[in-house]
Amino acid sequence: MLDRARDLGELDHRTFRNDEFWREIPGWRDVTPQEFGNHLWQSKHSIRKLDQVQSVLGSRICPTFIDDIAAGLKIAPMNIRITPYVFSLIDWDNPADDPLRKQFLPIASQMLPDHPYYMADSLYEDVDSPVPMLTHRYPDKVLFLPLTTCPVYCSYCTRSRIIGGSTETVDKDTYGPNPANWEPAFEYLRNHPQVEDVVISGGDAFNLTPRYIRLIGEALLEIPHIRRLRYATKGVAILPMKILTDNEWMDAFLDIHRRGRKMGKQVVIHTHFSSPREITQYSMDAARRFFDEGVVVRNQAVLQEGVNNSIEDMVLLTRQLAYMNIRPYYVYVHDMVPGCEHLRTTLWEAVQLEKSVRGTTAGFNTPTFVCDAPGGGGKRHVASYEYYDRENGISVWSSPNVKPGELFLYFDPVHRLSRDAQERWGNGDSRLAMVHEAIRRSNYEISDMARTKIAERLEGGAARSGEKR
Ligand code: SF4
Repeated sequence: MLDRARDLGELDHRTFRNDEFWREIPGWRDVTPQEFGNHLWQSKHSIRKLDQVQSVLGSRICPTFIDDIAAGLKIAPMNIRITPYVFSLIDWDNPADDPLRKQFLPIASQMLPDHPYYMADSLYEDVDSPVPMLTHRYPDKVLFLPLTTCPVYCSYCTRSRIIGGSTETVDKDTYGPNPANWEPAFEYLRNHPQVEDVVISGGDAFNLTPRYIRLIGEALLEIPHIRRLRYATKGVAILPMKILTDNEWMDAFLDIHRRGRKMGKQVVIHTHFSSPREITQYSMDAARRFFDEGVVVRNQAVLQEGVNNSIEDMVLLTRQLAYMNIRPYYVYVHDMVPGCEHLRTTLWEAVQLEKSVRGTTAGFNTPTFVCDAPGGGGKRHVASYEYYDRENGISVWSSPNVKPGELFLYFDPVHRLSRDAQERWGNGDSRLAMVHEAIRRSNYEISDMARTKIAERLEGGAARSGEKR
């Protein structure tokens, strides 16, 4: 594995795709660079329905693949929404194996039954929510979710329970931006002086109008103890045209950025490239616009099977981000949410990838590989588990500063385990026995109450609300 990292071309990351690639899509053959490069054209022509997939691709897609997508959408927890930019970057000669298609258009033939211990809200964001739209887990940081819509919908979304509207399998309380509903969150923050850091996510900040970008930024900057704002958007990766052509949105964001700077406060962008295939000259130009304005951009990728779980892809992604002056911040082990079993990797794979990426570039441009501990333990370095039973795919985690005295468990996908282990997972008694044995071997002393909490968490209950299946 390590040798393959060294084999990578050292300059490959400096080449950015700059052709009129969208013209390979029959329905967009005549679209000009001016049209394609405009965010309004991109939004208007985003793919939201299966018949649009068929109509823009025409004979480039075979009917059996369309049937496979249709069957996938019947069971997937996310609706489809894909910008023409991303859609055109998919290799439609081999869509089954394409890393972008895998992230946005699920096909039934690749999907797998959920892990027995998956959770709709695996990170306990709703449980750790003191007021609506706010999660307060870390002492000085909160997550604010002012909306739950996005310019694209990702198959791997950790908030599939609320993002992007109901599907055939999940009832969702998706909401658009509405300032009348944000005041309880602002009031909570005014009354909690330990909070310094607010992630404005959702949903996606690209779907906040310029007025709302300003309203949220001003309200938060006015709170004296708030020192850091992060606007979270996947937009840099999937709709870079907005940064280049939506001047009103950029002006609103840059006003907040400058205002924060004058107050000695950080206002940054957090984005979400997961595959080097998402990166083109448009990405480079968008990143350059932020850089020219002095805006820090950080990236959080999600590790996914067949998308970026190779050394080549992860090293290339890391280097390309760094080259664009986007700081590779985190690579997340895929959360244990429904509809994603085919996209999850083992924890061991994440540990090995981390080793292979580290040392290929400067430390400050090397992402930290983390497992967001199911049950609200927070982000833990992938190698910091208390115990890891690789045979049965069970890792045990503690989180002394977030939830002292508790343990958290992450489970590898069952289909990646040995046949014997798969059989053990098929039996309710033996899987619980494996879990208790892993906890015992972790040598971590926990109370009976903490043990009960783990059992409740694994049994699911309220955490799986909203699902029709
Ligand atoms: S952009 Fe983020 S919040 Fe929206 S669907 Fe994708 S992962 Fe979920």
